[in-house]
Amino acid sequence: MNQIVDLRSDTVTQPSAAMREAMRGAPLGDDVFGDDPSVNTLQVQIAARLGFEAALFVPSGTQSNLCALLGHCQRGDEYIVGQQAHCYRWEGGGAAVLGSVQPQPLEHQRDGSLALADIEAAIKPDDPHFARTRLLALENTLGGKLLPFAYVQAATELAHARRLVCHLDGARLFNAAVAQAQAARAEVAPAHRPGAELSGQAVAGAPSGGVDLSDDPVWHQARLIAQCFDSVSVCFSKGLGAPVGSALCGSAEFIARARRIRKMAGGAMRQAGMLAAAASYALDHHVARLSRDHVLAQRLAGSLDGVPELSVEPPQTNILFVELSQAAKPRADALVAHLKSHGILATGLYRLRFVTHLDVDEAGVDRAAAAIRQFFSR
Ligand SMILES: *Cc1c(COP(=O)(O)O)cnc(C)c1O
Repeated sequence: MNQIVDLRSDTVTQPSAAMREAMRGAPLGDDVFGDDPSVNTLQVQIAARLGFEAALFVPSGTQSNLCALLGHCQRGDEYIVGQQAHCYRWEGGGAAVLGSVQPQPLEHQRDGSLALADIEAAIKPDDPHFARTRLLALENTLGGKLLPFAYVQAATELAHARRLVCHLDGARLFNAAVAQAQAARAEVAPAHRPGAELSGQAVAGAPSGGVDLSDDPVWHQARLIAQCFDSVSVCFSKGLGAPVGSALCGSAEFIARARRIRKMAGGAMRQAGMLAAAASYALDHHVARLSRDHVLAQRLAGSLDGVPELSVEPPQTNILFVELSQAAKPRADALVAHLKSHGILATGLYRLRFVTHLDVDEAGVDRAAAAIRQFFSR
């Protein structure tokens, strides 16, 4: 029996043996009392490395975004956000339901960005007719797309100039950073690039966040992106391969407010250090390797190129979308069933989504491609 090739999401990864070892050995306390050493280490680590004063470990990315939106906004405020953004579309309307914070959704451009003119036009004047526009929320990567860094700078500068705060849903910030580092590397001739190798090697153990990552090209890009924002949420349970958890980063004062909201939302955990230790392990060992996931997504895209029934969207990171032609759509259900019977799992129907991650390899991706090609060759 062939193993399942699970390309539904990068959330499906199992903790590796070494990660489980790190979890087993983690010193624990009670994080509601603030004395779980492993949680505290993780929070110091991620805040320091992304250039923030403080961070908060939370059970999920959804709760992290909720804490951010409610931490920045008051009842009756609104946040500008993309139609496809997770913190608008995929979080049960939490900010509106729980915080009376209304979204002002905008259509995305093809590259995933929100047009500066649309943002500008959506910012309401100070007039009692309108909700108070308080925040701009961006997501990077969005649907696997890397937002151009010049755009991230321009959008957050515009928002700040109009007195909005900026929040980044960086569930896949490190996928963005890896892709951005790769692009930066391609722009500079290799000989002029001291220390900028994307080696894929682990960063040495970092008990206190005090490890010097200033020369690491991926962390450098992650910091560059993060520092455009007042708060950033990152997920450990996506490409980084930890079982549970996200971190919200920001100023000490903002994180104190977020901590109250986390409690209110039921997200304050006790011996959470076992989970935090997995996240710390991931930060030290699973960041640079994300480039492998990106290569795998490209490999899958390449193997599907030329199938006439498919339109393959070239992947920028670890998410590949493949759209069925009009003529092939009646066979979409049969395709999904065919893939399932071959142990290949994806999401979507007319537009299939394949996500690469820690627990898939070249052989798995090649099996997926072969099964798809076989289906259309019949
Ligand atoms: C997965 C994800 C989240 C959070 O998801 P949880 O399942 O709540 O951890 C938030 N934003 C984006 C962009 C995501 O992909």
